[in-house]
This record gives sequence, C-alpha cells and structure tokens, in this order.
Amino acid sequence: MKVYLEQEILQENEHQAEENRARFGGVFVVNLIGSPGCGKTTLLEKTLTALKEEFRMAVIEGDIYTTKDARRIEACGVSVVQVNTAGGCHLSAEITAKAASNLNLGALDLLFIENVGNLVCPAEFDLGEDCKAAVLSIVEGDDKPAKYPLLFREAGVVVLNKCDLQPYTNFDMDSALADLRGLNASAPVFSLSAAKGEGLDPWFDWLRSAVAEKKGRQT
Ligand code: MG
Ligand code: ZN
Repeated sequence: MKVYLEQEILQENEHQAEENRARFGGVFVVNLIGSPGCGKTTLLEKTLTALKEEFRMAVIEGDIYTTKDARRIEACGVSVVQVNTAGGCHLSAEITAKAASNLNLGALDLLFIENVGNLVCPAEFDLGEDCKAAVLSIVEGDDKPAKYPLLFREAGVVVLNKCDLQPYTNFDMDSALADLRGLNASAPVFSLSAAKGEGLDPWFDWLRSAVAEKKGRQT
C-alpha cells in the first residue's frame, strides 16, 4: 500500500504542471479560482463574447458534477472541455493535462481554466497556468482576502465582481483592498459587474496585453 503525503502529492503535481507549461507554449493560460456563485462562468461568458473575434480561445471547465457551465460556454461559440471531478474539490495538473489533450493548443491564443468553485485548495495546485485569477464577489464579504490568504497571495490578477450590488451589502472596499495589498502588492484589481457588463474594459485590456506579452516571450 502506498500512502501519499500531502507534500508528495504537491511535488508530483508541480512536475506535471511544468510539463503542462511547456505544452501550453505561447498560449496565455488563466486559472480562474473563486467560490461557487462568485460569477466565474458569467465573467467567462462576457469575456469570450467580447474577445472571440480578436483571439482564438478555449475553456477547460472544472466542475464536481454536471455540464451546466460547459453548455453556457459552448453557447458563446468557443471550444470547451468539461472535466467532472466526481466529488474532487479542485483541479490538478494531471486532470488539466488530460483535458488539454482534447484541444489543439497550437491553434489558440488564450485558454481559460475555470477551477472548481472553492476558495481553498485550488490555490495550492499549480496547473501550469501563466496566471491565477482570483474572483471574489463583493457579496461574499470584505474579510475574504484576509481569511483565504493563499489564493490572494498567489493571484496574478484579482476580479472583484458584482460591484453593482454594493448598495445592498456592507462590503468595505478600503478594508478589502488594504488586506489584499498586504498579501499581494502587485496584482491588478478590477472592480466590475460581469452580469451587468459594467467595468469590463480594463479587464479585457489586461488580457490583451497579457496575450501579447506571452506571444512576445515565445518569439
Ligand atoms: Mg461556474
Ligand atoms: Zn481540493
């Protein structure tokens, strides 16, 4: 019997993540992480619809069960691979490699991986992405960056979603941003409402420069 220690699992994951990174080549890969209901899929729908004439994109959809999110992505006219973890609460580099083998990576500019809705362990597992995008909806509370520091420390970009609901919450933006900056001095933060389509342009521009920068690094 082989008993795996957490550390070994993470080391094996890291090895596979490096292989994924090599395989992704010049594709800019974003790993979207946030709670169930924070708006990851809605953010993707709006992003794919806005950028699909500009970039060749695909999505790996991680869910515990169902193909509901993958159907929503498919309706945007973008290739999607659904992964069901059958109870697993995060994606691993190995699962990501299997999912990515269904995609023609050479024909892509931008790949989104929607992780399983969870603020905790997805942040521990490198999938070989270029960037973790932490998605937090303001209805979850301004204390979340401080309470789930690993994700916000690891994030290359932070999206504060559902900002249109500010009048109905006691979300203290200054307090959330101060905690966030204590953990992560450099990640850009975009306050927006994906559902209402408000404030999305700076996020799109950030993606545009990230894709261009990744391509530039490959040549
Ligand atoms: Mg979703
Ligand atoms: Zn997990």
